[in-house]
Amino acid sequence: MSQYQAVKGTRDIFPEEAAQWKYVEGIVHSLASLYGFSEIRTPVFEYTELFQRGIGATTDIVGKEMFTFQPDPKGRSLTLRPEMTAGVMRAAIQKNLLSLAPVHKLYYISELFRKERPQAGRQRQFSQFGAELIGVSSPAAVAEVMTLMMQVFESLGLHGLKLRVNTLGDTADRLRYREALQGYFAPYHSVLDEASKERLEKNPLRILDSKNPAVQEIVAGAPKLYDYLHEVAVRDFEKVLFYLEERGIAYEIDHRLVRGLDYYCYTAFEVTSSELGAQDAIGGGGRYDGLARELGSSSEVPASGFAVGMERLLMTMEKQGLFAALNPHGPVVYVVVQSQELADNGLQVAYRLRKAGIMTDIDLAARSMKAQMREANRIRASYALFIGTTEVETGLYSLKNLVTSEQTTLSLEGVMEILREPAAKEFYKL
Ligand code: AMP
Repeated sequence: MSQYQAVKGTRDIFPEEAAQWKYVEGIVHSLASLYGFSEIRTPVFEYTELFQRGIGATTDIVGKEMFTFQPDPKGRSLTLRPEMTAGVMRAAIQKNLLSLAPVHKLYYISELFRKERPQAGRQRQFSQFGAELIGVSSPAAVAEVMTLMMQVFESLGLHGLKLRVNTLGDTADRLRYREALQGYFAPYHSVLDEASKERLEKNPLRILDSKNPAVQEIVAGAPKLYDYLHEVAVRDFEKVLFYLEERGIAYEIDHRLVRGLDYYCYTAFEVTSSELGAQDAIGGGGRYDGLARELGSSSEVPASGFAVGMERLLMTMEKQGLFAALNPHGPVVYVVVQSQELADNGLQVAYRLRKAGIMTDIDLAARSMKAQMREANRIRASYALFIGTTEVETGLYSLKNLVTSEQTTLSLEGVMEILREPAAKEFYKL
């Protein structure tokens, strides 16, 4: 075994799996465009304060999961991005995007970093695709990002996913609710676990998220946020549900679903897969009208968005057999030379085929003809093109169809004509 191993919590993606990623990414790119979203790419690291403000200092991510470093003793602290929303919002404010148009619809597929304890479905480097709709916040806007997310799942053929939705009301609603929660949990103080005790002071809504069964039992009797909402929030929520119903998107209302930060408001949602075990969340999102202000924007920048974990999405697809039809194929043609004296002739033919747009491969390890044929089959080439002394002398080549074993003799132009057509077809075949 090599002295060097991939760092715990990171993984390599080899070609067969990379083909699955490419396929999923392709669907994300085309559906995002279909809904009028454009791609944004932001830096992998940002100033640490951005995440402290943009995610919230009381969250686990900021509290203990960030990869933070100082480039030099006097430099400002930097952090590898643990999520995308803060960076995208930072970029939008920095560029003053809203002065160009009132609404911006951005999406991304990006690598993220969190110092969590690695386990199945939880890595230290992972990817998310997500979208941010910036500039307006309304039931129609949040329904649009939810619909895009659900259509990606549907197009990938996923089934059995559960979409849970809730409304968090506005800041005033939550303040009243927060007080009610503190009042409710106070008598249970001695039986709460350490994390919940800490949350009771700073962010009692997050106790509702606790996975601890003992805490969950107490949570069951807690007041419901829904009872603290004012009329506007209730109507807002009903409108979101109306859009989901009109579009045939199944959902469950879950009043215990919270995004524990102050700048989240109104709709929050999460998608889970029963296929995933303990880490069952595939993605989630909501509305975060207060984030821009939190990041120092002088004006309101209402927004909503979602993020979906790519690894968990792919894991669910694998379990549901959705990659079975994905048939990673080899090159269209493998150039086989009869003897090593003809190696340079072979290389020149391969070059000409590639220049003609035909996916071509050729041996670079001076292997025997038999070994070259074995390789052509291993990499699933559709054809083999033989280069022998006669071929070089006459300019007529033997082309063998490796599926039907049919063989024909043709000029190189003739070969190209035959291979060009399937080349295009094969390339896009799934
Ligand atoms: P979050 O940004 O925490 O709301 O996470 C959104 C989605 O990203 C989750 O539902 C997961 O699918 C995925 N995710 C979050 N953390 C990790 C991780 N450490 N490893 C793999 N996927 C993750």
